[in-house]
Amino acid sequence: MLQTPDAYQEIREAIRSLCAEYPDEYFRKIDEQRAYPESFVDALTQAGWLAAMIPQEYGGSGLGLAEASVIMEEINRNGGNAGACHGQMYNMGTLLRHGSQQQKEFYLPKIATGEWRLQSMGVTEPTTGTDTTKIKTTAVKKGDRYVVNGQKVWISRVQHSDWMILLARTTPLADVKRKSEGMSIFMVDLKKAVGNGLTVRPIPNMVNHETNELFFENLEIPEENLIGQEGMGFKYILDGLNAERTLIAAECIGDGYWFIERVSRYAKDRVVFGRPIGQNQGVQFPIADAYIEVEAANLMRFKPCKLFDAHQPCGAEANMAKYLAAKASWEAANVCIQYHGGFGFACEYDVERKFRETRLYQVAPVSTNMVYSYIAEHVLGLPRSF
Ligand SMILES: Cc1cc2nc3c(=O)[nH]c(=O)nc-3n(C[C@H](O)[C@H](O)[C@H](O)COP(=O)(O)OP(=O)(O)OC[C@H]3O[C@@H](n4cnc5c(N)ncnc54)[C@H](O)[C@@H]3O)c2cc1C
Repeated sequence: MLQTPDAYQEIREAIRSLCAEYPDEYFRKIDEQRAYPESFVDALTQAGWLAAMIPQEYGGSGLGLAEASVIMEEINRNGGNAGACHGQMYNMGTLLRHGSQQQKEFYLPKIATGEWRLQSMGVTEPTTGTDTTKIKTTAVKKGDRYVVNGQKVWISRVQHSDWMILLARTTPLADVKRKSEGMSIFMVDLKKAVGNGLTVRPIPNMVNHETNELFFENLEIPEENLIGQEGMGFKYILDGLNAERTLIAAECIGDGYWFIERVSRYAKDRVVFGRPIGQNQGVQFPIADAYIEVEAANLMRFKPCKLFDAHQPCGAEANMAKYLAAKASWEAANVCIQYHGGFGFACEYDVERKFRETRLYQVAPVSTNMVYSYIAEHVLGLPRSF
């Protein structure tokens, strides 16, 4: 036990015992086969863990972001990859905070039971990237429907979702006062949409992460699938992004502890030059350094949780938590692979798999430079750079 016991031991124990049914071999095989961890995600769903943040009146457990983050952390800490299912935890937040009563009653109970998966959120586009307000996907109102045209890229878990939250422009950029206005969010019924205006093209990638290019050609969405007010979608989605960043920070923390535990164990056992490699300060110190960084990131993660649950702004805190955690897990990953020597590269040690998985989080869901720029502009008051 590397971590000091905290207020969440009950959740930690429960996730650990669920994860014990899914040992390293399970995740290794899923990775090799580029498959989806169906039975693991089903087990989490059946046990109600993915509905942690859905209020009890809609069938969830009504827990806060801190508890949810501990669930995600423990999955990664126990060798899994919460990236396969974390969308189910936070995507519904947009609906919960900005949907109508009718929409909440329609969607949330089925999301809580897992009958419906809402694991996807379509924001990023190939030609605009991080410059989200320039998105070119449009939704044009025609009678009682919106007609969607455009393209998205890197949209994850579409093939393992029933619904997707889509961000599209409803008023041209040239006609709005502020560039963050004029975008709206919609619930897309994926089963109906695919083949009827939506084409999904998987993107093979470095991690076993199911992600896709999406092509919209006159996809029709009923007007009742608009969430909240037309034109306010960008503002709504930012709340969801803060929850996403905080949960992913927790996953990185889980990865960080996993790397430190594995490398510490290996460094005690591996004997070279007549002594355990971990007896050398040249090996001990980088591991200790990485552990300190993971512990610091762990503390920071609870700050955005508290603010988010109190409906307070938490953009800076969520960004900083994600930055620190992704950096700490990457440093721990480097140390872990380094001191496993050649064995770090052997799939059967799982280090290379976790190494690839944790690397993603310096780029997605927000890249490190974008975090720096947010802090520089919005916290330190430095001049806007773009
Ligand atoms: C596996 C995977 C899964 C993903 N899942 C989803 C998903 O489900 N839904 C979704 O909407 N998106 C998803 N994304 C997209 C992800 O959020 C973006 O890749 C990420 O935000 C970076 O955007 P980009 O790839 O367009 O990079 P770009 O915007 O093209 O930027 C490229 C690099 O340049 C840097 N850069 C750009 N402009 C500046 C500047 N002005 N100053 C300094 N540096 C700059 C960036 O920081 C980045 O490092 C996913 C991505 C991956 C790889």
